[in-house]
Amino acid sequence: MKKTILITWWTGYIWSHWVVAFEQAWYKTVIIDNLSNSSISTLDWIEKILWYKPDFFEVDLRDIESMDTIFNKYNFDWVVHFAWLKAVGESCDKPLEYFDNNIVWSLKLFELMNKYDVKNIIFSSSATVYDSTNFVNWKGVLENGITWNTTNPYWTTKYLLEQILMDLSKFSWFKVMNLRYFNPIWAHNSGYLWEDPFGIPNNLLPYIMKVANGELKQLQIFGSDYDTIDGTWVRDYIDVVDLIDGHLKAYEKISGTEWFFKVYNLWVGKWVSVLEMLKESEQVTWKNIDYKLVDRRPGDVAQVFCDPSKALNELWWNSETSLENSLMNSWKFYSSK
Ligand code: NAD
Ligand code: UDP
Repeated sequence: MKKTILITWWTGYIWSHWVVAFEQAWYKTVIIDNLSNSSISTLDWIEKILWYKPDFFEVDLRDIESMDTIFNKYNFDWVVHFAWLKAVGESCDKPLEYFDNNIVWSLKLFELMNKYDVKNIIFSSSATVYDSTNFVNWKGVLENGITWNTTNPYWTTKYLLEQILMDLSKFSWFKVMNLRYFNPIWAHNSGYLWEDPFGIPNNLLPYIMKVANGELKQLQIFGSDYDTIDGTWVRDYIDVVDLIDGHLKAYEKISGTEWFFKVYNLWVGKWVSVLEMLKESEQVTWKNIDYKLVDRRPGDVAQVFCDPSKALNELWWNSETSLENSLMNSWKFYSSK
């Protein structure tokens, strides 16, 4: 029988890719989303790839009654918890909203899991849980290098939920797979799924693509006086399809074993600055991308470099797609919209 997985907040960017990969790998996925940052049309795109629509409920995670009904209806093996508000700048403006949404409502979800005896969870964490001030030798931090030194409420919520899950694994027998990564980019190779948030994008790549495509006028680069190769901040950008493959490998490897808390860095191991990303995008799109250097963004993070070797050794996973290829595919979809 197919394993059944509940996915919170799936019609968003990363997790629509996730649904496709898991359905294709013969799992049944059941999805809830309140469509606050995504569109119901994602279902149609998914149907074009899979030839059917997965079970979907337009439900807010905070609607406990509806969530209870869904738990009652299905016999879930796993919950994949991606439910999160995720904008760094916004989290500094609305910290309480972030704590409420990301922590309080996650706890309600865990209560439901407990009630229905669903104790397996995949948590989408982030390299934000590492202390970004400690990395001077560039060897990269291993999974046990977690430190308490976050710079914004979004990151704090990731850190706190990891700690909560660790305790639930110790004291309530939750089985937790915790995956940490930074900046996913690109789109599904079918051409049907890509990152297209509502309104003005917060993230760099959709912003760049929209300027290249004439939908936005100018990119603002937040900070040019950082201690980096060209003064702009650097990040490790990972192709979203490689990232989902990492989730699948991790899930398959450990779903039958008796561990209670597993953590992996899903990391490319290559730095790209904002200006480098811009130049590379100009080459791929053959467009001049107008930009302006402005002040640092509040709460923006220092550089964190992770060591992805555990994922390579234990999951036989690494990210191989080149930045150029990721950008070319991204542009293919943006320019054809
Ligand atoms: P996204 O905004 O594209 O997707 C989030 C989805 O959640 C949207 O479809 C939105 O409609 C839905 N949603 C919001 N509030 C809801 C609520 N109360 N009830 C039900 N649904 C609700 O985000 P994404 O980029 O796909 O990221 C998803 C997860 O991955 C988050 O946990 C995020 O922290 C994590 N993550 C993202 C990145 C990244 O750079 N994108 C990096 C590391 C970790
Ligand atoms: N960035 C920028 N202008 C933008 C959006 C992002 O200069 O309009 C920078 C941002 O300061 C960071 C990098 O691009 O250094 C990646 O930002 P993003 O929001 O995509 O990811 P995150 O900060 O969550 O890693």
